[in-house]
Amino acid sequence: MGTRQSTRSYQATSGPVTMDAAGRPVLVIEQQERKEPSSIVVMKFGGTSVADGDRIKRVAKRIVDAQEAGHPVVAVVSARGDTTDELIALANEITDRPREREMDMLLSAGERISAALVTMAIHAMGHDAISLSGPQAGILTDNVHRRAKIVDIKPDRVTRALEQGKIVLVAGFQGLSTDNDVTTLGRGGSDTTAVALAAALNAEVCEIYTDVDGVYTADPRLVPSARKLARISFEEMLEMAATGAKVLMLRCVEFGRRYGVPIHVRSSFMDVPGTWVTEEGEQMEQAIVSGVTYALEDAKVTISNLPDEPGVAARIFTALAKAGVNVDMIIQNVSEKGITDISFTAGEDELALIRATLEALKPEITFDGITTDNAMAKLSLIGAGMKSHPGVAAKMFETLAQNGINIEMISTSSIKISCVIRREAIPTAVNALHEAFNLSAELIHQDEDSD
Ligand code: ASP
Ligand code: MG
Repeated sequence: MGTRQSTRSYQATSGPVTMDAAGRPVLVIEQQERKEPSSIVVMKFGGTSVADGDRIKRVAKRIVDAQEAGHPVVAVVSARGDTTDELIALANEITDRPREREMDMLLSAGERISAALVTMAIHAMGHDAISLSGPQAGILTDNVHRRAKIVDIKPDRVTRALEQGKIVLVAGFQGLSTDNDVTTLGRGGSDTTAVALAAALNAEVCEIYTDVDGVYTADPRLVPSARKLARISFEEMLEMAATGAKVLMLRCVEFGRRYGVPIHVRSSFMDVPGTWVTEEGEQMEQAIVSGVTYALEDAKVTISNLPDEPGVAARIFTALAKAGVNVDMIIQNVSEKGITDISFTAGEDELALIRATLEALKPEITFDGITTDNAMAKLSLIGAGMKSHPGVAAKMFETLAQNGINIEMISTSSIKISCVIRREAIPTAVNALHEAFNLSAELIHQDEDSD
């Protein structure tokens, strides 16, 4: 078995954390040229995969199997089952304003419990393994508690243990801040730990084991004929994650793309191939449309009768950004007699903050009023083939029209078209688009341009 074979060198970064112009730490993991990835495999198991003793043993077996197949293995685990939610509830029983630093001390424990238990299960199978917390594994973050960003990885302890033939378990979702405090990476952050470690170790692949067996053309709960995709590009996966697909956290896909780490999303309960998220290669099957996604939490805000003059939009959206509002789509209407309307979408739960922020601008900027509608949803079509195939938007709008669905806002990127529609129309809309673009059919390779 080949656990010792691959101590190939990678560029572990070292030295002080670099800051950007605004004084925020920036990521300094050097771009790996992916010339020759090591044979290291990073495996990530989500909370349901390690929920109880039996499942923990099953995960341990899967990890040992990968090692016996010749790979040095690093496994990243999430907190068991609903542990994170339970810990949050517990904190809220104590106080309704727990400090964020203490929340990170509390929540990071969930992942450490999983890492220790899986390690014990591997020991019981007669194999050598060691568990490490995020800080011990060299995951370094900024100082923002509860949604810290990884700024560097110094995986020396991980590589040393691998060189000793050990399986390494790493507690996901956490790191060490530049102030030496434990931080957490935001809900679902273990995916990011796994992909970031895979990047730092120049791993062959980052396998994300989860309770779904891959990425589908649409949410299978809504569309029974949804099809599992064999492959999807980082760009498409980023758009899918940003428009509502819950299977991978956005930041983890960003890491994968930046460092060229192939991500394999697969089932922790069945041993079947899942979906590969990779660079858009020559050989890659390229559908015009790869999937339909939706996000239900959108609200639409319209500010009416604003002066149409330079600097108004800048002041509005600067104020919103400073308040921490995540604005999505923005539309400015045609101006008449120097007066215009601006509409934008944002999360429903941010409406109160948005109102307060805009009201505070009243002395500086005159406008008539703010109207809000919180029963909106965003419907998106994603596909790398859109770049070269006109007519996708027309067909999308036509399909919605045939179903009597009104479009409130539209935005596009080169591989995505999003429409804001009423929330209750989502099931009909998603099914209609899935059908209109024939997404349940196995992809026919587009050979026309390839010879
Ligand atoms: N346990 C954390 C959460 O539930 C992190 C994770 O599962 O990835 O958000
Ligand atoms: Mg979780």
